[in-house]
Amino acid sequence: MVENTDVVVIGGGYAGVTAANRLTQREGVTVTLINPRPNFVERIRLHQLVGGSDDAVESYGKVLSERVRLVVDTVDHIDVPGRRLMLATDRSVRYDYLVYALGSGGPDPVVPGAAEFAYPIATFEEAERLRSVVDSAPETAPVVVVGAGPTGIETAAELAELGRSVTLVCGEVLGPYLHPRGRRFVARQLKKLGVTVIEGPETVVTSVTLDAVRLGDGRELVSAVTIWTAGFTVPDLAARSGLSVDHVGRLITDESLTSVDDDRIVAAGDSAAPSELAFRMSCQAAGPLGAHAADTVLRRVAEQPATPLALGFLGQCISLGRRTGVFQFAHPDDTARGVYLGGRLAARLKEFVCWGTVKQLVIEARRPGTLVVPAWLADRTRQQRLRARPTTPLRVAGWAAEDAHQRDLAGMKRTSGITIGPAGQG
Ligand SMILES: Cc1cc2nc3c(=O)[nH]c(=O)nc-3n(C[C@H](O)[C@H](O)[C@H](O)COP(=O)(O)OP(=O)(O)OC[C@H]3O[C@@H](n4cnc5c(N)ncnc54)[C@H](O)[C@@H]3O)c2cc1C
Repeated sequence: MVENTDVVVIGGGYAGVTAANRLTQREGVTVTLINPRPNFVERIRLHQLVGGSDDAVESYGKVLSERVRLVVDTVDHIDVPGRRLMLATDRSVRYDYLVYALGSGGPDPVVPGAAEFAYPIATFEEAERLRSVVDSAPETAPVVVVGAGPTGIETAAELAELGRSVTLVCGEVLGPYLHPRGRRFVARQLKKLGVTVIEGPETVVTSVTLDAVRLGDGRELVSAVTIWTAGFTVPDLAARSGLSVDHVGRLITDESLTSVDDDRIVAAGDSAAPSELAFRMSCQAAGPLGAHAADTVLRRVAEQPATPLALGFLGQCISLGRRTGVFQFAHPDDTARGVYLGGRLAARLKEFVCWGTVKQLVIEARRPGTLVVPAWLADRTRQQRLRARPTTPLRVAGWAAEDAHQRDLAGMKRTSGITIGPAGQG
């Protein structure tokens, strides 16, 4: 008789759904997905939800395999030694293997007034709330978007295209990821849309009030709606449960995505920090990480050694309203190249990426194991970068962090079939 293995995935985003679908490949593996909402949220369309061009939601019936059991709930605590999850509804769920894919959420702004008066857009609920605030503001009301990463740029452009009066406060530079050529293109497009871009180190926001945003240089911008996009945070479930996390709170894993504390736990997506050298929080990384996390669990169930991930980036695709966009090409290590694609074609490409990301989930639900990261895309510099960095881990203390640190001090961190030396060579 084949013994059954219970795998529980926490978090039904890009990483969690990919992992859950892929896990259904093996007979004798029961897969449960726990997520607080009954629908899949397309986070990469949340600025469209605010602008009204998309609802940013898909049904799990479409993207999730029939073989995955969906539990609509929130995990409150992981009992690591007991292999049990405590849920918000007081229920508990047992697991043999756990996939930690909680994603990321809104920023935790320390700037005075930001938490009270600025609106984040990182989660579905935040975007919905922001939409009703924008909808009820007069059309001429000034909107200030704080933070000029891709989320800030996309949000500013989306609202400006709808005729809103938008100011984008960069804090430092517009689109820090972008190559200067790509940045100049984005600046031109934002200008065409009527967005006022405020750049420079003195433009850091120092306080927010009900109707204004104050900058470091003393300027005060009148604002009826302030949108805060500067930075994502991650849920603190791993830290609260005594697992090792990095300085941001992401669960620390080895290169197979296995927790450094417990080889029954793997992590993927925005809330994972492989070798404490995390990938950019993005759905571009979340899908492949979810697939690799599932593969690691399946290999372990089959009593085979887990393999290290091989992942790389193509670039960053940013919508600039519905009619134009930019695709900033990048090296596999996620640094921008001097080449970009801008204009209508890039807008279509962005739409294709959004559509394709969901399509990939649908395919993986029907034919698990389909998603393959092409070998040519892998970042071949990652191992060198891991070897070159200083060894002192930036971890948040906990019993597990202490243990892991002791193992580091002992000179060798052994995790799940892959042995990583103190400098991370694998
Ligand atoms: C407006 C906007 C635009 C973006 N555009 C892009 C883009 O163009 N390209 C790109 O690559 N990235 C983009 N991103 C980033 C991208 O959305 C995230 O990096 C991606 O969603 C991460 O996927 P994930 O699966 O790790 O997490 P998520 O998609 O965040 O999913 C995590 C899930 O876990 C659930 N969860 C959290 N805590 C618990 C708990 N305790 N119990 C149970 N479930 C829990 C969450 O509710 C959520 O459903 C954008 C983000 C935003 C906000």
